[in-house]
Order: sequence, then C-alpha cells, then structure tokens
Amino acid sequence: MHTKHHLALLHRLAHLAALSVILLGVLVLVGWFNQIPALYRVEDNLPLMTPGAAFSFMFTGATLFLLQPEKPSAWRRIGGRLLAMGGIGLGLLMLLSYWHSVPDMLLDQGLAPLALLNLSVDKDSLQTAIAFILTSIGLFFLSLERPLLINVAQWAAFFSVMLLVGVFFGFAHQEDMFKVFTGEAGMGLLTATAFALVGWGIILAKVEKGFFRIMVSEASGGVVARQVMFLMALFPPLLGWLPVLWGQVEHGKLTHTQVESLLASVMVMAIVLIVIRLACRLDHEEVLRTRAQEEVRQHQADLDQMVRLNTLGEMASGISHELNQPLAAVANYASACQRLITSGENTQRLQEPLQAIQQQALRASEIIRKMRALVRKQPPHKVSACLEQVIHEALQLSKVDANKFGVPLLLELDDTVPDIPLDSIQIQQVILNIVRNALESMQATQSHRRQILVKSFMSQQGMVQVDISDTGSGMDAELKQRVFDAFVTTKGSQGMGIGLSLCRSIIEAHGGRLWVESEPEQGATFSFTLPVN
Ligand code: ADP
Repeated sequence: MHTKHHLALLHRLAHLAALSVILLGVLVLVGWFNQIPALYRVEDNLPLMTPGAAFSFMFTGATLFLLQPEKPSAWRRIGGRLLAMGGIGLGLLMLLSYWHSVPDMLLDQGLAPLALLNLSVDKDSLQTAIAFILTSIGLFFLSLERPLLINVAQWAAFFSVMLLVGVFFGFAHQEDMFKVFTGEAGMGLLTATAFALVGWGIILAKVEKGFFRIMVSEASGGVVARQVMFLMALFPPLLGWLPVLWGQVEHGKLTHTQVESLLASVMVMAIVLIVIRLACRLDHEEVLRTRAQEEVRQHQADLDQMVRLNTLGEMASGISHELNQPLAAVANYASACQRLITSGENTQRLQEPLQAIQQQALRASEIIRKMRALVRKQPPHKVSACLEQVIHEALQLSKVDANKFGVPLLLELDDTVPDIPLDSIQIQQVILNIVRNALESMQATQSHRRQILVKSFMSQQGMVQVDISDTGSGMDAELKQRVFDAFVTTKGSQGMGIGLSLCRSIIEAHGGRLWVESEPEQGATFSFTLPVN
C-alpha cells in the first residue's frame, strides 16, 4: 500500500479524534444542564468533569478540527491559532479558579455571561487546568507549522498520553491514580479519555512532519509503528472503561482482584493476537513488495520497447544518410549524360549511364521501402486504463530530467475522469515527448519561473483532455503551424523533428486530437484529447 493511503487514514483518525472530543464536551454539558450525573462523572466514586472543562474540551476539539487537514487553508490556520490562544486563556482562568472563585470574580468585574461557564467547581480542576494550558500551547505550535515546534508538540502529547496510561490503569484498579501523583486532586475517566483523544489528535494531525512520520512509512518499520501505536492508543482507555462499565452491568458480582485477573488475561490474549496480526501484515507487505518489483520489471521491458521506438528516429537518419549515395550517383550519371549529349556523341553511349541511373534510382526506392516498413505505425493495443496513473507513471520517468533542469512538475488531475481505452505505453511516450520538449524549451527561462503544469479534465465535447503547459521560449506562428510535420526541428543536429509527428499519429490512432497553443516567449501548451469510449 502507498504512503499516501496511510497518511490519509491517519489524518482521518485525527479528524475523528477532534469530533469525538467536541461530542464528549457536548454530552458532559448536556449532563450538567439536565442533571444526569452519569454523563459528567460516569460513576459516583469517580471525579467529575466540570462544565468549564467540558467547554474547554469543545474549544480544544474545534482547534484540532481546524488544524488537522494535511494542508489547512490560511483561514483554518489563523482560526486554529486564535482558538489555541483562547484555549490558553481559558486554561489560565481555570488555574485561577483553583485559588479564587472565578464566577464571583467575573461577576465583580461585570462579566456575568462568562461567569455562566462555571469554570470552577472544585479543586479537581488544578491538573486539568495545567493540562489544558499545555495542550493549547501544543495546538498553537501545530498551527505555526514549524518542524521543530511540531516535534515539541508531538512529544509533549506523546508523554501526556503515556502518563494517561497510568491513570487508566488506576481506573482498572478502582484507584484514582492521579491522587497518587499529586497527593490531592484526581482526574475523572471522561477527562482522561478526552485528553487521550486530544493527545493522539495532536500526534496524528501533522504525523508526516515530525518524529512520528515512521507511521506513514510503507516499509516494514511503518507497519510495526502503526500496530504498536494502535495498541497503545486503544488498550489503556479500554482498560480504564471496561471495569467501570462492567461494574455498571454486573454490580457487585466480581471482586476487584477478579476483574484485574480477567483484564490481565484479556491483555495477554490481545498482545498475542496483535503480534500474530503484525506477522501477517509484514508477510502481506512482503508479497506486495515482490509483486511491485515484478511490475517494475515488466515496466522496464515496456520501456525498452519505447527506447527501441525512439531509436527508430536515429535509424531513419542513418537510412536517409544512405540515400545520399544513390542520389549523388544519379546526379553524377545525369550530368555525364548531359555532357555526352552536348558533345554530340552517339546516343548509343548514353545507354550505360542511363542504365546506371535506373539502377541507382531503384536502389534508392528500395531503401525508402525498407525505411517505411521500419517506421510503419503499429496499431495501438488499447486496454481500459486509468489516465491519472498513466500520467503519474510517465512523469515518474520524466522526474530525473526535470530535476536536472530544476523544473517543478505540477499536477492538477481530475480524479473523476473515468477509465478510458488506451495504449498506456504509447500515451506515456506522447507525454514523455511533450515534457522533454517543454524542459528543453525552458533553458533560457529564469530558474524561478520554470515550471511544467499537467492538467487533466473532461472537455466540453465529452472527451478527456490533457494539457501540458510550460513557461519556455514558446513558438512563433510559422513554427506553430509546422511543428507536427516530420523532420521539423529547431534543435539543429540535436533534434530529429519526428517526436511530435509520432505523437500526433499516436493520438489520432486513438481517435483523439493533438494541438498546441503558444506565443513567442510566452511558453507553450500542448493539448490532446482522448475519446471516453
Ligand atoms: P525535436 O525535439 O527532435 O526537435 P519534435 O518533433 O519533438 O522534435 O519537436 C519539433 C520542434 O517543435 C522542436 O525542435 C521545437 O522547436 C518545437 N517545440 C516542441 N515543443 C516545444 C515547446 N514546448 N516549446 C517551444 N518549442 C517547442
């Protein structure tokens, strides 16, 4: 599987984490407003989640939601940054509420609406407030998109998630672990779950940019990292929630020790299962890799054929060189005949040179016949294929050249274009040819202006259209008219002038059209269409 696939999946998980935190916050608030304690403290003996904390989590979730796409838009980034700063402010207010009654303070200041948030309930808010401030700083770092800051945020999130493992184990023991850590304040199950979600959200939102990018690798390391992280993300919360839910269902039937033993055996089983799954995944990846290598070999064979096709041009040049010989001989014999006629020689003497002329002309026509047999067009071998993939593969081959010329290859491919019948090797040859010409046309272009843009879309005539634009030297009207004719080249001895004529015959054999739009010094856009059916 491709890295892009894993990246999309992990971003989707970050998205899910953000939405879950918001939902959790909403449920807790609903619990407070309708006096349903199960929604804000789960069980009587567990610390509760305050409405202020619920509100702050909704805030954090919204921030994460804005920042989680791979490339967030400018407004999302700015929105995320502002929300993160707001989150830091909220956290500070909560911290303050540890010493002062914030609602009273806000009322004193005439800020009654804010007091409604009821930010302080009891002393439990101390570590929640500190965690909020740190989380919001982490989200703020994410919004700045700097690799170092992203790393700091991810590591901080990772350590807090690890710390939560202790808290969740505490719930499994029916023991408030945070009281053990801090001596007084405890953390509820809901709060711990929400922090775990936010923590993983922060790690996954920019997973490709920090230390944890191993998780998007397609190699074996990536497989192991994803499985281990998956286990770490899922197991501790499960460990925390199971005994509590169990207690709700089967109240009093099992002792804590029995619950613990049960959990321990479930855990061992889960670890064994995960290790087996890991082995399967590694095995599967190995099979995929072998298959991919096989495909590369096949592609290489196809490429060799393409190279053969390209050398055809060079052969044609060699053959035309050979044609020079009989033609020069014909010219020599003809002038000999002329000399004989003007000197009034017996016409009988013309017999020999005329015969030689005939022989040489026959030789020339034989050479031409052979050449035509060689360059005879092969009918395309059309198979239904994904144009987007054909383009990607062709550009993969052009990449080395593009890097050499320092030209970025930009893509705007419409992924709704349906599969179409085509000879992918021939279409790749067309793309390669146009891209190579485009690269060569940009040698005099300032390096920061160089670029090639490849677009695909459905044209108005119901055909699929591909546009390949460059910012190179462009063409004048005269060259534009002749550019698809055979042997038209401006590259002197470097060019053959048959690339584009071959491209046009390939596209026409597919039932499509190839044309160019260009102005001198304004670059050129080569476009071709292909029928859908
Ligand atoms: P060759 O590349 O061997 O010259 P082609 O048939 O591929 O043969 O191209 C013919 C000519 O068309 C080139 O010599 C060049 O003058 C012109 N040409 C092709 N593509 C471009 C382009 N993107 N910009 C400017 N001129 C181009």
